[in-house]
Amino acid sequence: MAFFDTHTHLDYLQKTTNQPLANLIENATAVGVERILIVAVQQQDFKTIEKMTALFPENLRYGLGLHPLYIRQHQQADLDCLEDLLKQKNAYLTAVAEIGLERAVPDLLSDELWRKQCDFLDAQLQLAKQYNLPVNLHSRKSHDQLFTFLKRIQVPKCGVVHGFAGSYDQAKRFVDLGYRIGVGGTISYERANKTRQTIAKLPLDSLLLETDSPDMPVFGFQGEPNRPERIANVFQHLCELRKESPEIIQETIWRNSVGLFG
Ligand SMILES: [Zn+2]
Repeated sequence: MAFFDTHTHLDYLQKTTNQPLANLIENATAVGVERILIVAVQQQDFKTIEKMTALFPENLRYGLGLHPLYIRQHQQADLDCLEDLLKQKNAYLTAVAEIGLERAVPDLLSDELWRKQCDFLDAQLQLAKQYNLPVNLHSRKSHDQLFTFLKRIQVPKCGVVHGFAGSYDQAKRFVDLGYRIGVGGTISYERANKTRQTIAKLPLDSLLLETDSPDMPVFGFQGEPNRPERIANVFQHLCELRKESPEIIQETIWRNSVGLFG
């Protein structure tokens, strides 16, 4: 079994657990997680993530971007810095990530901050287009708004709507536009019925696996930092929801993940 964890904050997992990076990667590879994408949330972390990836080029890929939850602090200078790094075309920098929209936090919905969220998403989608990279998207209570952006700014490599929770119709619209759907710990919770039914029904080749570690705990591991090796648990839950064999599911998802994020 080979898995690709297509959405992690491994830099934050390392800070939270104080474990050596080699250790975190070893634990992941022990259950078949051959590759891990680290995504950024703020400019201050760009260099750390780049350095982490350079230490384990076999296992790691990275994305750089400015996350909507941190919208208050982002500046034009951060976008400029992002563009400078994209220009360097580091072979392991394979996504503009994590970017998107956040409508579940009322404080971030003032006219001013909502406009800023939209402006930063717009600018970063343009960068993904210009530098021909896929995006790794955050969307909470904002699927309709996000869809409008993706339709208007066509990013050739598309990308993934990560940690998807929502209806089949919402997911299908993204898929029809060429985007993938990130499947994470959410499907391990019985109460997430709508999302589970969505994931059961979507075309298999539209799905990617992820942990969002250290966030989004898998059922049974609540209260602990989430880790890339929990992909194995997410995968089991996915297999229970799908008709295809585990081998076909694993192979299809691995191939698509590598195709997208290298
Ligand atoms: Zn994330």
